[in-house]
Amino acid sequence: MNSNNTLAIVVPCYNEEDAFPITVKSLTNFLGGLIRAEKVSKNSFLLFVDDGSKDKTWQLIEAETKQNPLVRGLKLSGNVGHQNALLAGLLTANEDSDLTVSIDADLQDDINAIEKMVDAYHDGADIVYGVRSDRKSDSVFKRTTAQGFYKLMSAMGVKTVYNHADFRLMSHRAVEALSQYKERNLFLRGIVPLIGFKTESVYYERAKRVAGESKYPLKKMLKFAFDGITSFSVKPISLITALGIIIIICSIAAFIYTLVSYFTGNTEPGWASLIISIWFLGGVQLSAIGIVGQYIGKIYVESKERPRYNIEKYVKYSKEQ
Ligand code: UDP
Ligand code: MG
Repeated sequence: MNSNNTLAIVVPCYNEEDAFPITVKSLTNFLGGLIRAEKVSKNSFLLFVDDGSKDKTWQLIEAETKQNPLVRGLKLSGNVGHQNALLAGLLTANEDSDLTVSIDADLQDDINAIEKMVDAYHDGADIVYGVRSDRKSDSVFKRTTAQGFYKLMSAMGVKTVYNHADFRLMSHRAVEALSQYKERNLFLRGIVPLIGFKTESVYYERAKRVAGESKYPLKKMLKFAFDGITSFSVKPISLITALGIIIIICSIAAFIYTLVSYFTGNTEPGWASLIISIWFLGGVQLSAIGIVGQYIGKIYVESKERPRYNIEKYVKYSKEQ
């Protein structure tokens, strides 16, 4: 067991004044336990990120840092959204930590799974995903929309971990690699699997929110899904190209049909040429837009300047081996 590793638990908070007192208590007890069991170092800490809350969240965090040595607070200048708040927390925590765990402020994720994550880290994993083994606690609506979301993402070619939200452990170097992904439209669940390194999963049951209400109404959820797809996949553009080609094929069928109608004599003058042009031009236009789109898609991907690789190990010859 290596107790020299400093763990940082990062908690993004947006209007969480109801949940915060409960959460900070549970996490303090839990982290204290890990330190006493010598699973992590005494320097380990909790980092609460206030994502521009409009309620008393920051006052509560700040007050807590004055009397709880395990707690740190980071206040963002305004509301930047869950993903960006989380990134701010991870990058800040990484300056003083060897491993980070991100968890929501509502404790829907089972904090006891963190211990299993830390064990997996000690066994050599760089990234450990917390995966929900069941969703009984979520409403039917939340469950179906969330699962539809994962299915849609994979149909669009975005690699995500099924039933994993943003509850995960990352090693120091994994967070460092993450910081090289420069995009502004952040979708961490899509980026983290691209980092590579040894990954593990731990399973847990998802609970209900300890207090307060969901900060993800349907509108935000849809935007999140749309962002996720358009930030990771140019498939929608390929679909336009494909549709254009299908319509060109249809225009050939329409061409044959109109010719037959024309020769059997039951058409108005001008109808045949008109209908063929409509179908054919429609198809040509769509596929042309699609092809232009493919180039825009490439520019889009290039403009992200993502790293092309992350180095996991660098071995050199040494005599002592
Ligand atoms: N959150 C945030 N900024 C936002 C919205 C949410 O930091 O703009 C935080 C929120 O405080 C919580 C986490 O993101 O810790 C997940 O939000 P929530 O639990 O409301 O989402 P749900 O579990 O309902 O999907
Ligand atoms: Mg939640």
